[in-house]
Amino acid sequence: MKKLIMIKYGELTTKKDNRSFFINTLSNNIETALSGLNFVIKKDYYRMFIEVDDTEEAIKRLKNVFGIHEIDICYFTEEKEVIAINEIAVSLVNEGDTFKVETNRSDKSFPIRSMDLSKQVGAFVLKNVSNVKVDVKKPATLVNIEIRNEGVYIYKNGTLGKGGYPTGTLGKALLMLSGGIDSVVAGYLTMKRGVKLDFIYFESIPHTSLEARDKVINLAKVLKKYGNTGKLYVINFTKIQEAIYTNCDKDYMITIMRRQMYKIGEKLAKRVKANAIVNGESIGQVASQTLTSMKVVNDVTSYPIIRPLAAFDKLEIMSLARKIGSYEISILPYEDCCTIFVPTHPVINPSLEHARVEEEKLDSNLIEKALEDMLVFDLKEENIEKDLL
Ligand code: ATP
Ligand code: MG
Repeated sequence: MKKLIMIKYGELTTKKDNRSFFINTLSNNIETALSGLNFVIKKDYYRMFIEVDDTEEAIKRLKNVFGIHEIDICYFTEEKEVIAINEIAVSLVNEGDTFKVETNRSDKSFPIRSMDLSKQVGAFVLKNVSNVKVDVKKPATLVNIEIRNEGVYIYKNGTLGKGGYPTGTLGKALLMLSGGIDSVVAGYLTMKRGVKLDFIYFESIPHTSLEARDKVINLAKVLKKYGNTGKLYVINFTKIQEAIYTNCDKDYMITIMRRQMYKIGEKLAKRVKANAIVNGESIGQVASQTLTSMKVVNDVTSYPIIRPLAAFDKLEIMSLARKIGSYEISILPYEDCCTIFVPTHPVINPSLEHARVEEEKLDSNLIEKALEDMLVFDLKEENIEKDLL
């Protein structure tokens, strides 16, 4: 008898044409998640079986992989014998549980019909596990028996996976990653929909510290736990922020700063072949996130700006951040660039015309210069690599 982990695909089943691509990507992502363990993956069109030395550890890791609907422990035996099936079924039902046995017999040479086998195995469980009861409508444990040509699979309903699509199946986006609570959550939700992320972080050294940068690196690494991610691009934003501070209307500082961020973001997104920019904006959270502000900032780009948290409350975002494991890092006190140059009266309803006029006062070479000086962190190596593009 073999103990296997059975993976059910979930939403992936709707992707008829790309199904093999989705399944292969999921299998690659699972290989990465299980690295260090000894395992063999067998996949078919409907599910995947994993034979692994440390089942518990493997399940813990698989719970973080997107594209998995359900994770079940499954026993496989080549012996198509009722005695063997009975024994496994008994081991799956806990004392005091309600249960039901369901059989699917694709190997018609097996002499007992599905209904009859379910009844026989059910009767054996009733006799051999104390205080159990059959419940055909809502059993706590559903024992599934599948009689196939190669042998018998027996499993019960296990744990739910994270759902979503396998990371990497739906292209790449550039996440504007700050040290705050929101953007990492926005990144997580985007990865869940199958999108691979690169990261861009704007820093203002010496107004911001290297600890602030480390915080962002650590947040990116939290996301890496949930699937393969790309590189972190660090932009030195100091000169641009100082130029805005000296030359532009103070009330429009954040509006212009964010327009500059989007401009740089778009240029980088094009270079790294990302199809969208993602950020952690949430409607009304701060002055720069009113609908008018978003419209005025969006004016600089034709790229899709994905805002997964647009309709989330801060408390909902915080609760997700705790689940993801990013919250404790995000609340560390190091400031990133935005909190330093905050004006006393940021506009809530900026005028597009005025923003454009004020922005004209900046030297347009600053953006090119910032991109030239960009640092690239390969999160795998943890080394800084320059000029990788
Ligand atoms: P967060 O929103 O992540 O909690 P924050 O509150 O400091 O951080 P906001 O001022 O709300 O950020 O900015 C909205 C979004 O803009 C962020 O969620 C993030 O996607 C992006 N952003 C802000 N500052 C930076 C930065 N320094 N580098 C990269 N992206 C940033
Ligand atoms: Mg925010």
